[in-house]
Amino acid sequence: ERKPKQISILIIGLNNSGKSTIVNFFKNKDVRKSVSIPTIGFNIEHFENQGVSFTAYDMAGIGRYRNLWEHHFKTCNGIVFVIDSSDRMRLVVVKDELDLLLQHPDLKRRRVPILFFANKMDCIDALSSVKIAAGLNLEKVDNKPWQICSSNALSGEGLQNGVHWLTSQIK
Ligand code: GDP
Repeated sequence: ERKPKQISILIIGLNNSGKSTIVNFFKNKDVRKSVSIPTIGFNIEHFENQGVSFTAYDMAGIGRYRNLWEHHFKTCNGIVFVIDSSDRMRLVVVKDELDLLLQHPDLKRRRVPILFFANKMDCIDALSSVKIAAGLNLEKVDNKPWQICSSNALSGEGLQNGVHWLTSQIK
């Protein structure tokens, strides 16, 4: 089966989870277009690389911004969900956001692969990817391929493996 001509990847996660750091890691000199639009309490980043378009959003939990990323649910070919493994306090917020995402009518029945980055694995208080998977109840996700990878966006550890898995899932 042929891959779609234009692949669109949605990168989401709470603020401070490491999205920008991950995006910067994958940006290179081939990047044709790169826009960062910082607004008060909200960040959007977009870039394209070798036929793959990446758009990153803060899941700010602010109602009026929600449609900005939900707007991509209908068409995105893959999702990267970034989690700060050391932010134990907000794991419940992450779970709420994930549950909303999985129940969204535009995504619910789509077999979109989801890559979870258990980021900041280098932090001493970081939860393991196994603990995060349990906390988020990932075993319940049965209609979408998913994978959770520990990552350190500062060193790049785990990032290539994760993205490799994601692209392998996009048919
Ligand atoms: P965003 O708000 O999701 O875009 O998060 P950023 O990419 O801006 O990262 C938030 C903060 O976490 C920054 O100070 C980053 O340097 C730091 N950070 C990102 N990834 C990692 C990581 O894997 N390990 C550690 N220790 N810090 C990280």
